[in-house]
Amino acid sequence: MKIIVTAEARLPKNYALVRDMVHEHGTGRHLTAADVHSFAKQRQPRIGYSTVYRALNRLARLGLVSEVLVPGADVTYYESVAGPHAHFRCAACGRIDDLDYRLPKAAVARIAREHGFEIGDVLVNFTGRCASCREPAGG
Ligand SMILES: [Zn+2]
Ligand SMILES: [Zn+2]
Repeated sequence: MKIIVTAEARLPKNYALVRDMVHEHGTGRHLTAADVHSFAKQRQPRIGYSTVYRALNRLARLGLVSEVLVPGADVTYYESVAGPHAHFRCAACGRIDDLDYRLPKAAVARIAREHGFEIGDVLVNFTGRCASCREPAGG
């Protein structure tokens, strides 16, 4: 029998449940801790909000779920770990959408070279008005 010890294998049961809920519901969507709590309760009715909240923090630190870091958002959102993408936040209604966009590698490499930095994560955020909030054209 092969035993693989990873950060995931050592996760408490409730934390693994929280991770699964984000993976099942969080692709292309952004979940608040309250959303994750309500999904988790369907599987484990006694799980508490604070457990879910702590689990999300820990899972984010371990890189098992992603925190959606968007300036101006009033709550923290979580999503499953996806490929690099940008976020758009509507300043009018607050919705946050995924955008299939990443800064070109060459642009990141140039910035790193010019400043002598080593660049790790690149987060790209856009704000504005979503399709339903924007003023009708010509109106
Ligand atoms: Zn909007
Ligand atoms: Zn996203």
